[in-house]
Amino acid sequence: MRANQQERPSVGIPQRIGDDLRCILAPNPSPMTFWGTNTYVLGHRQLAVIDPGPDNEAHLAAILDALDPGQSISHILVTHAHLDHSPLAARLSRETGAPVLAFGDAQAGRSATMQALAAGGDVGGGEGVDADFTPDLLLCDGERVTGDGWSLTALWTPGHFGNHLCFDTGRDLFSGDLVMGWASSLVSPPDGDLTQFMASCARLRSRAPARLLPGHGAPVADPVARLDWLIAHRKGREVAILNALADGPQTAWALATRLYTDTPHTLLPAAARNVLAHLIDLHGRALVTAEGTLHPATRFRLSHIPGRSEPAQKSPIPPLSGPMGS
Ligand SMILES: [Zn+2]
Repeated sequence: MRANQQERPSVGIPQRIGDDLRCILAPNPSPMTFWGTNTYVLGHRQLAVIDPGPDNEAHLAAILDALDPGQSISHILVTHAHLDHSPLAARLSRETGAPVLAFGDAQAGRSATMQALAAGGDVGGGEGVDADFTPDLLLCDGERVTGDGWSLTALWTPGHFGNHLCFDTGRDLFSGDLVMGWASSLVSPPDGDLTQFMASCARLRSRAPARLLPGHGAPVADPVARLDWLIAHRKGREVAILNALADGPQTAWALATRLYTDTPHTLLPAAARNVLAHLIDLHGRALVTAEGTLHPATRFRLSHIPGRSEPAQKSPIPPLSGPMGS
């Protein structure tokens, strides 16, 4: 884990983090959600709420209590359909009349590979999915949402989740669970797709935002450095997996226990999901072969590359870190 320098904010108390921008911490801390979910409130009089959070009475009250006299909520924006981000959207919409805007339901945005895996019913995963999530309005990639004194561009950024959107003000970028400062994100197939994740990270990097406002944890003040670290971290993990497979075929679980030596045992299942995501990505790039269908218990081996008789060249294994694996 990378140390997070800033102090944990108080639950349910709006923190001012910019002009017409506040953050309210939801009461759902855990190893996967860090302090809890960040609900952002943007605007001067007619407000956008980004990620209402879990279905929690106290958090609903905290969001409504944050409204000053003369303020109302005009838009409810959701980064992705995980239970710690989206379920309160429907109730907040009923209370306020504001529509819920998102890329799509919990299955929207999956790659063809992940659709096939999900249809096979064998890949596991599905942790924390808000299967009932139903947005009122669907946002396309690049679509602009404009309110009272604020404007956001929706960026379809799958990887952590197929229907994941980031929202870019041109200065701040609400990065959901794609990029956070305290941990590398969980990528668990079929909702998580590492091939998409790497492409989405590269895309955010090319926009060079001034600040990332993640779904969990403190703002990220140096987004390009964080994205460079994240991309290098994933590439390092890929090298470590290929090196380990040079010793013979292995399952995602066996690789996770071998590579995630610093990870608490309770988080090894999440680490194994991240390894599986890597293996599926490597499989898609024909660098590894599956001994059977793509499945958590399947053994993978290095692909035979014509003209290469030696196993893959061993490279130095970088340090492995991060509570959620990667
Ligand atoms: Zn999530």
